[in-house]
Amino acid sequence: MIHIPKFAFAGFSDAKEKDNDVKFGGLPVGLPIEKWPVCKECEGPMTFLFQMKHHPTRLPLGKEGRVLYLFQCESEEGCSTWDAEDGCNKVLILEQEEWNNNPITELPDEDTLMLPDLAVTAWETKEETGQENWTHFGGTPIWIQSDEEVGENYQFAVQLDNGFRVKATDLSELPIGETSEYEGKKSYQLQVGEDEFVWISELGSNEYYCPFANFGDSGSGYVFINADSKSPSGKFIWQCY
Ligand SMILES: [Zn+2]
Repeated sequence: MIHIPKFAFAGFSDAKEKDNDVKFGGLPVGLPIEKWPVCKECEGPMTFLFQMKHHPTRLPLGKEGRVLYLFQCESEEGCSTWDAEDGCNKVLILEQEEWNNNPITELPDEDTLMLPDLAVTAWETKEETGQENWTHFGGTPIWIQSDEEVGENYQFAVQLDNGFRVKATDLSELPIGETSEYEGKKSYQLQVGEDEFVWISELGSNEYYCPFANFGDSGSGYVFINADSKSPSGKFIWQCY
């Protein structure tokens, strides 16, 4: 079985009811600031991608209360974020007691990119059939290049695509800048954080395509987990066309 998250823009009407154990983009929650990972190549703080608490079927981390955080460097230096061992991405798994209640209210560095702040409002669980759900928890990876493994004891856990389908019933709530139209399809400039923008585009039925992390040319990312009871760990890679 696979588990597919349904997204809405955090902080707006569509995200009023959400799964509080998971969040994508924006700022991480519960992470002690000193654990914010730094890129080994460019030495800048990495960008936060998502976090999620242990869930017995969607994200088994081996113990109640554990939380997984995924980061990767999004600097323009072109660091080796696709590689599991180069130190340009980071999977952190914290124990419940390592959680910190002091909220992180700003990025650790003004040059660190923030991704669109997304809430998960529902999950769809279904049989794994074909390749229609690139972003999914559990099941097996949909590879773009050849199959990869990241080491013994590591099991595939999550695939993240480079952009998501996000619900926005009332676009006028969102911080929208410019609008553009191409072949009858509208795109909107969405403000992210203080001074970043991404272009979101209409998909119909009040849904928009929202670009997310940089995984190269139309790439997809893969999280692997070693859910060891004493010292859990995770690895991340991505592939692209
Ligand atoms: Zn870097």
